[in-house]
Amino acid sequence: MKASIEENIAQVTEQIADACRHAGRPVASVSLLAVSKTRPAEDIRAAHACGLNRFGENYLQEALDKIDALSDLDLEWHFIGPIQSNKTRPIAEHFHWVHSVDRLKIGQRLSDQRPEAMPPLNICLQVNISREQSKSGCLPEEAPELAKALSQLPGIRLRGLMAIPKATDDEQEQRRAFADLRQLLEQLAADVPGLDTLSMGMSGDLVPAVAEGATIVRIGTALFGARIPKNV
Ligand SMILES: *Cc1c(COP(=O)(O)O)cnc(C)c1O
Repeated sequence: MKASIEENIAQVTEQIADACRHAGRPVASVSLLAVSKTRPAEDIRAAHACGLNRFGENYLQEALDKIDALSDLDLEWHFIGPIQSNKTRPIAEHFHWVHSVDRLKIGQRLSDQRPEAMPPLNICLQVNISREQSKSGCLPEEAPELAKALSQLPGIRLRGLMAIPKATDDEQEQRRAFADLRQLLEQLAADVPGLDTLSMGMSGDLVPAVAEGATIVRIGTALFGARIPKNV
C-alpha cells in the first residue's frame, strides 16, 4: 500500500530528529524543505495541512502555476533548479529563496529585479562539491570570490551554500562531500558576514548531511513518493 503523505512526513521528521540527536544538534537547527517538483498543488495542500510550509520547485512555469493556485496559503517558496538568465525576473518576484545561484550574472539580475517592496531575496551559492563534469555549481575554489561579490548586492542576501554531491551508496563518501561543503562555508564566513545556511541532503543521504551540519534538507521522494515523469 502506498504510504500517505502524512505518514511520510512523520517518518522523515523522525529521521531528521534522530540524526540531530546522534550529532548532538538541536532538532530545530534543521529545516525540512519539501521538494514538490512534478507534484500537483493538492499534494502541497496536503503537506501544508500536516504542518509543512516550505516548498522547493525546480521548473519555473510549473512553480508559478502552483504559487498562484496556492496563494491562499502562507507558504515559503524556494527555487532549487537550474536558472536561465532570461528567467530571473519571475524568480525574483515570486520566491523567498533561491538555492541554485552559481554565477555572478544570475545574482546581479536577481538583485536588480527583486521588487523594492519585498525583503532581499535569500540565496545560496551552489557549489559543484564533487567536481563532476556537466554538473551545475561553481567550483569550490571559485566560491570565495563569488561569495564576496554576491554578498554586496542589495536586492539579495547571501545565506550560505548548496550542493548536490555525486550520487553514491557509500556513506563515508557521502559524509566527506558534506564535510567539504561545511568546511568551505566556515572558510567563507571569515570574510562574509551573515552566512548561516548549508542546503544539503536529499531523500537518500539526509542522515550524513545532518551529521555534517546541514541546516536545510531538500526532500522530495521520501515525502511524496516516486516522481511523476514530465511530458507524458
Ligand atoms: C529533486 C531534488 C531534490 C529532492 O530529491 P529526492 O531524492 O527526491 O529527495 C533535492 N534537491 C534538488 C536540487 C532537486 O532537484
